[in-house]
Amino acid sequence: MSNSEWVARGEAVLMQTYGRLPVAMVRGEGCRLFDADGREYLDFLAGIAVCNLGHCHPAVTAAVREQVQRLVHVSNLYQIPPQIELAEILTANSFADRVFFCNSGAEANEAAIKLARKAGGEGKYEIISLTGSFHGRTLATVAATGQPKFHQGFEPLPAGFLHAPFGDLEALAKMIGPATCAVLCEPLQGEGGVRPLAPAYLQGLRRLCDERGLLLIFDEVQVGMGRTGTLLAHEQLGVRPDLATLAKGLGNGLPIGALLATEQVAAAFTPGSHAATFGGNPLVCAAAKAVLAELLAPGFLDEVRAKGQYLAAGLARLAQKYPALVQEVRGMGLIQGLVLSEAAREQGPALVQQLLERGLLLNFAGNTALRFLPPLVVSQAEIDRALELVAAVLAQANA
Ligand code: PLP
Repeated sequence: MSNSEWVARGEAVLMQTYGRLPVAMVRGEGCRLFDADGREYLDFLAGIAVCNLGHCHPAVTAAVREQVQRLVHVSNLYQIPPQIELAEILTANSFADRVFFCNSGAEANEAAIKLARKAGGEGKYEIISLTGSFHGRTLATVAATGQPKFHQGFEPLPAGFLHAPFGDLEALAKMIGPATCAVLCEPLQGEGGVRPLAPAYLQGLRRLCDERGLLLIFDEVQVGMGRTGTLLAHEQLGVRPDLATLAKGLGNGLPIGALLATEQVAAAFTPGSHAATFGGNPLVCAAAKAVLAELLAPGFLDEVRAKGQYLAAGLARLAQKYPALVQEVRGMGLIQGLVLSEAAREQGPALVQQLLERGLLLNFAGNTALRFLPPLVVSQAEIDRALELVAAVLAQANA
């Protein structure tokens, strides 16, 4: 079966919710993907920050294989040893005391929204998030998402979500009212175009939340799990949240999400408050435990930071060489964005297509930035190769 045959079959039966590229990926190994026509690609998207250890990482595969033969699923009506062990690892290595497991980023944010409202108590239901944010596709997380294009056609959205202008603490402070219970933000906006929030802003936000009795929720679905060179991105920003959400890289491709919280906040959830049938089942937790063992191995995250600097420096050289096309480079660790100049932005999708044809996978985030999300196990040689391919398409666009 060829790429084009898969395109035709998919178009006939799938809901057309994605603008898909015409390639069918059939195998993955490390930072490489192979399509149905036998072509090889260097994968700098990693399933959008999911396959942080690369495709089919042997330790994750071995853990899944072992667990799938032992026990795949059991209800949360029972004790689930791999789930408990995973929560122990996450709490031992983060600000959090307690964890709730679910299946995706949107679900983790839903859980955070529900917990913030429950912890806030009677009449405290408003959550302030930021313009340009992305928090998921369920109705509540769409409402929290600060991009009107995701709202269109789905109104009326759940009430109680306000959007403060990105990076403007004073404006956010003015939006706090008697019903506000929490502020929700990504330390670095991924879908919004690889936009980091300044550490000073986040520290100011923490102070503001403390002064006004609000919970601070960090959505680390995209930037957590080692992506930025620390297990959670906020660790290097000098701010501790009350709640944080994870998904994507947590299972390296197995569907698992998590809500982390301090003891005090988590106490608002009692038996019956919230649940997920598949949440934290033995199989996905076995995968996530294997992922964490790799990420927390001595030196692993240091290397992510070093490789992130190497990639950012290479991209900065391209930005300097092509000022008409590139406005700036921004990011943290191994999430980097090559922000196109306003004049070049309409070329973003075409550049992604040209890179695909040359064998490099990445995407165009927030209609502003070519987003680089290589597996964290990427080698320097693979970064060099990606930079070479990007240089080639920029040279072509500049001609
Ligand atoms: N939050 C952030 C920051 C994300 O980047 C995403 C997905 O891109 C989500 C939430 C939603 O995650 P999921 O697609 O697993 O529901």
